[in-house]
Amino acid sequence: MHTREQGARQAPQAGGANASARVQTDRSGRSTGQMLALQRMAGNAAVTKILRRGAGGQGIAGLVRNKGAAAREAQLSANYGIRIGPPPERPDDHFSHSMLDRIDAVLGGLPPEHIRNNPELTAIQPAAPGSGQTTSEYDGENQLIDMVRPFGMPSWLYTELNRSSGWQRWLMDHKGPMSGFEGISSTGDKALGLKGQKREVMGGTSNVLAHGNLVKWTVRHEMGHSVDQHVGWMMNLMQQPRFGGWRIYSPHSDYDVEQVARAILAEVGLGDQLEVQDRHYMGLLASVAAALDPRVARSTPQRLTGLPEHFPDQDEEFKERLGRIVHFAQLALAQPWTLRNGGGDVLTIRGRTYHVDQHGQWVSYLWREREQHAVSNYQFSTPAEWFAESYAAFYDPKPGPRQRLNPQVRNWFATELPALLGQPQEQSSQEATGSGV
Ligand SMILES: [Zn+2]
Repeated sequence: MHTREQGARQAPQAGGANASARVQTDRSGRSTGQMLALQRMAGNAAVTKILRRGAGGQGIAGLVRNKGAAAREAQLSANYGIRIGPPPERPDDHFSHSMLDRIDAVLGGLPPEHIRNNPELTAIQPAAPGSGQTTSEYDGENQLIDMVRPFGMPSWLYTELNRSSGWQRWLMDHKGPMSGFEGISSTGDKALGLKGQKREVMGGTSNVLAHGNLVKWTVRHEMGHSVDQHVGWMMNLMQQPRFGGWRIYSPHSDYDVEQVARAILAEVGLGDQLEVQDRHYMGLLASVAAALDPRVARSTPQRLTGLPEHFPDQDEEFKERLGRIVHFAQLALAQPWTLRNGGGDVLTIRGRTYHVDQHGQWVSYLWREREQHAVSNYQFSTPAEWFAESYAAFYDPKPGPRQRLNPQVRNWFATELPALLGQPQEQSSQEATGSGV
């Protein structure tokens, strides 16, 4: 069950792009030196703009001491009907003005019923300091969104980050989400023949979502997780073809790993020999399914790589086919969704692409949906992220991301989602344009 985002569990100070990324707080008084650094980087006009935004109309005190933030949080909480600001147990841990600007801009552009009357959303709060999280996340158990400033980056700098800039995106991809994924290494990529292929999370197969302000995208994306939980998209709808046709193969779902094994065996031409026994008298199907178990494949990789040797009595052709299964599984285990083509040239069987997702479970989706309608690589990593990215795309103030979605998905957001929430249907598409620059 999806509750939290995949957590990159690295220490926040993983070494930012420059010295300015190492400071923990913009209330520390060390901001001045960083402003100078930014000034050199971005120029005077930009810095003046940032200062004005960061101070929330409170002058330099607003920026350095965060004056007025608590009152503003109270006002926004009243406006939106959820708590925006710190939890009672750490009452002084306020958002910065620049962060509140972004949160306000995004929430103002979403249908109010996604926020105010959403029982799966009670708060948007700053993540606890020292929690070690590097990515913001929706916490489904406590119905709240934790906003993180990655790498201990000062808030005023983080809120300026733009998703369209190449180096910033690389930083967010590689120091943020990517650092927590199993199965990605340069030696592994070389062995799989992937050397030189770019791995990306936010962009990739399509860059339509890779624009605009990073914090705004984050808020919109995390809001998507809470709406998913509210309307039960993952529970009831994710398998529909228009939504990617997602399947999860686990003991707790409708499908299991044996079905993955069956599909791959048929693909390599061994579908009619499922009863052939390995050297431990285990049938081919069960033996391959055991090797494909993600926990086994990660903890005891030789169980997978040694698959051909499990069948010493079979001929070379049989073993060569097993070798293709090994290659398939090794690529599937290497987070292939971060590749531009999702690994689909190898991993697609009868229109369905398979991989092991960042939570360590086999999933599959419809290849053509990724090819034609993906808004980012992340969208086709796992069903929960499909929804959150689609949500962020649909409610993006720019038209490009929404246009990229399957028309039937656009229709669902515009008419079926409001109906599910008991709202008049015209509302959603109108309000999606409300968010300013
Ligand atoms: Zn997410």
